[in-house]
Amino acid sequence: MGRSPNFLNLLSYRVLHVEDIDEDYHIKAETISPPDRCVHCGSVSLVGFGRRENWIRDLPIHGKRVGLSVDTRRFRCKTCGKTFYEPLPEVDSKRSMTVRLKTWLEKKSLRHPFTHLAEETGVGNSTIRMVFDDYVDQLRDSLRFETPEVLGIDEVHLIRRPRALFTNIPSCIVIEMLPDRNKTTVARFLSDLPSKGRIRCVAIDMWRPYQDAVREALPGIPVVVDKLHVLKMANAALDALRKTVGGTLPPGKRRTLMRNRHVLLKRFSKLNEVQRKRLDEWDKDFPVLLKAHLAKERFYDVYEASSRAEASRLYKEWDAGLDPEIRSTFGPLLTAFKNWEGPILAYFDHRVTNACTESANNLIRAVQRMGRGYSFDVLRARILFVRHGAHRMKPFKRPGLLGKLRLEDSKGLGYGLPSTEIELEEMSFGVDTSILLDLIEKGEI
Ligand SMILES: [Zn+2]
Repeated sequence: MGRSPNFLNLLSYRVLHVEDIDEDYHIKAETISPPDRCVHCGSVSLVGFGRRENWIRDLPIHGKRVGLSVDTRRFRCKTCGKTFYEPLPEVDSKRSMTVRLKTWLEKKSLRHPFTHLAEETGVGNSTIRMVFDDYVDQLRDSLRFETPEVLGIDEVHLIRRPRALFTNIPSCIVIEMLPDRNKTTVARFLSDLPSKGRIRCVAIDMWRPYQDAVREALPGIPVVVDKLHVLKMANAALDALRKTVGGTLPPGKRRTLMRNRHVLLKRFSKLNEVQRKRLDEWDKDFPVLLKAHLAKERFYDVYEASSRAEASRLYKEWDAGLDPEIRSTFGPLLTAFKNWEGPILAYFDHRVTNACTESANNLIRAVQRMGRGYSFDVLRARILFVRHGAHRMKPFKRPGLLGKLRLEDSKGLGYGLPSTEIELEEMSFGVDTSILLDLIEKGEI
């Protein structure tokens, strides 16, 4: 086995010696066909001019790390007088590794901790990081995401700071994550978007710099405050009051209230008999909580409106009818509505909501858990590019089936060339959050 050229499956090399040491294979090899002409002038008049050992990392074999010691020959050209080392085929000399190892590391580095890859291959951490960086640059240059018709802007907390997250709402795809959520940063990104005319509207949460950035970079494009963020404030008000009321109760009763908090937060129409009965019971003990519950329900009704005008009327009625006893409970919501009335009501003209933010948030939390110790740039690249860089493994096929399958796969005009379908797919980068969550749950990320 020691001298079989197939041990490496690198056809340009001859294996001279294999040393099997614990977790490593040390393999001595040389190229099969040394150059027959000068790399400078093309002359065939060459003489040997020494050798040197090149240490090249390769893919793990049999679960062991592989290091190739390649006996590299040096030549002197008798015509031009210059010297050169023979070029090493299938080797990336910049990274001192085989091209196939580099390709493997590129894909793996989007999904696995660098330290694991370093352990598995013997390549240093910093080299893996460089391979990753180059690969991400390459993906960025080759993949262009499509400007969405409905753009979502939201934030996620990543490495102790809020970061602006941009989503393509109709397809629920993360298209960008910026290092902060300042107006300048957001406006710069928006200005640089290609085909801005595509954008119909932008859904945001109530963060003033987003609105200012859209007004500056996308003038005339309507801003809609995300419905879910507004409704969340109604629930938050009720929940805060529930805590205050709970605080005055003996522990047993407080716990019952805590256990049943979902009864308060859920829409009344979705409650079952038992839950409705519970609300009735509470009416006697905690009338203020029930008042707030009713106010929350009425507020949700605003969002059932069929037009902007109706919503505006329902909101005014809600505001006017608010019991003074619970007015302060809904204080933050009242303030938000006052400050954001236009964009909140714009919902009724455009009916868009950033429903995929929630799954994007889960995804990002998962990436963060996996990526302790990584920089923002690494996490960002993983979130944006993992779909393109880390395709799932194809099922392992028995060799006998391969020929048959290939024939069936080619649909007439293919001739083994990538189909137009694939090219279109590659046109957009970004990541389908549900696919990613699925990968994370399976431990593949
Ligand atoms: Zn020459």
